[in-house]
Amino acid sequence: MKLLDGVYLSGLIRKEIAGRVMDYCRNEFRPPHLAAVLVGNNPASQAYVRNKIKACEEVGFASTLIKKPETTSQSELLELIHELNENKELDGYIVQLPLPRHIDEHEVNLAIDPSKDVDGFHPNNFGRMALGLPALKPATPKGIMMMFERFGIDTEGKHCVVLGRSNIVGTPISLLMSKKTRPGNSTVTMAHSKTHDLPGLCRSADIIIAALGIPLFVKEDMVKEGAVVIDVGINKILDSNHPKGHRLVGDVDFDSVSKKCEAITPVPGGVGPMTITALIDNTWEAFIANR
Ligand code: NAD
Repeated sequence: MKLLDGVYLSGLIRKEIAGRVMDYCRNEFRPPHLAAVLVGNNPASQAYVRNKIKACEEVGFASTLIKKPETTSQSELLELIHELNENKELDGYIVQLPLPRHIDEHEVNLAIDPSKDVDGFHPNNFGRMALGLPALKPATPKGIMMMFERFGIDTEGKHCVVLGRSNIVGTPISLLMSKKTRPGNSTVTMAHSKTHDLPGLCRSADIIIAALGIPLFVKEDMVKEGAVVIDVGINKILDSNHPKGHRLVGDVDFDSVSKKCEAITPVPGGVGPMTITALIDNTWEAFIANR
């Protein structure tokens, strides 16, 4: 079994990006600049944003964290987005989700300048990706594709079962895997909560990409011998043996499934760090395109 180590691969790719940033700064260009907008006090969102900012600084990017109170109105947030769109010193920005309930996420997403949309959620970028045109791609699917490419996983002609159809993971990774690209060129089945005989479907998969948000959902008897398993899930479960009283697990029962796999991602340390690496790579792309 090959462990698809996202920490190791992220380190490698981030080093390459840091090298490119150094070369640019030597020529007296300003470094790439990413901003993150955080509305409210959701502890998970605060942790995600902190990690993203820290990772940007480690590769030599400039970064700005913009914190807004939970009570920020829709129009105040749209005004801020307008300012970020106009800011020539800024290459890309993210608006951390979820937003407070009184804010329409869709409206916010539509207001983001697609050339600065390093989360790749704007319909311009999503549509371009669907058409196979150059685009800023959503970070998690992009990070998974980087893993296939860099770890040399053959995806051509393989049956890939994607569990989940969300706009940020399941749908875009299904699109990318089905494209006539390398990696890609798979035959994709996108499964969801209404899919019949999910265990049987999973057993027919050469590649499983699990993005449901259900802890340890994929068990050993759902995976065929020699499959490649990508675990996107990040779930907190109670564990009285753990010093914190809880621990993080994926959507895959790693201990049993890994025995049957050709390759598998761990949680934590798999897709999570690759998502941040893909965000950094998108910021680099936006920086180059905006020059
Ligand atoms: P979501 O809740 O938006 O979507 C879950 C999907 O799973 C839905 O499409 C639903 O139809 C499907 N589903 C639910 N129950 C099912 C069942 N019993 N059988 C089949 N399908 C079922 O979730 P999301 O935003 O795509 O995130 C999924 C998981 O990935 C979560 O644990 C999330 O925390 C994690 N995540 C991780 C990263 C990362 O960087 N590693 C990034 C994004 C999301």
